[in-house]
Amino acid sequence: MSEKCPNCLSQRIGKRNYGKKFAGVVGASAGTYGGYAAATAGAHAGAKLGIVTGPGGATVGGLGGAVIGALLGGATGASAGVLLGDILDKRVLDNLRCLDCGYCFSTDPDSRDDTY
Ligand SMILES: [Zn+2]
Repeated sequence: MSEKCPNCLSQRIGKRNYGKKFAGVVGASAGTYGGYAAATAGAHAGAKLGIVTGPGGATVGGLGGAVIGALLGGATGASAGVLLGDILDKRVLDNLRCLDCGYCFSTDPDSRDDTY
């Protein structure tokens, strides 16, 4: 790693990635919730479709639509969250931490603690 601590010039730098972890969790939750909404819609669509094929078809169609909606929503939300967290880590948060002196700083020179 080429980053140096701006405080003591040590090259022992650790990454925190708080934003990525946090946003990943939030994104997955939001995605699962979105997936739940999609699942409900999917279940309705599946049930309607299934009604044509009979009562059993409605149940299978509804379940299938619900599961697919939840899975898709959760995965999409998590990916979007990780992406957002990556941006947060790079632009907003002090993502890097010196392992020698504990100084936290960012790779983006515009967002360092000592600039304001
Ligand atoms: Zn340092």
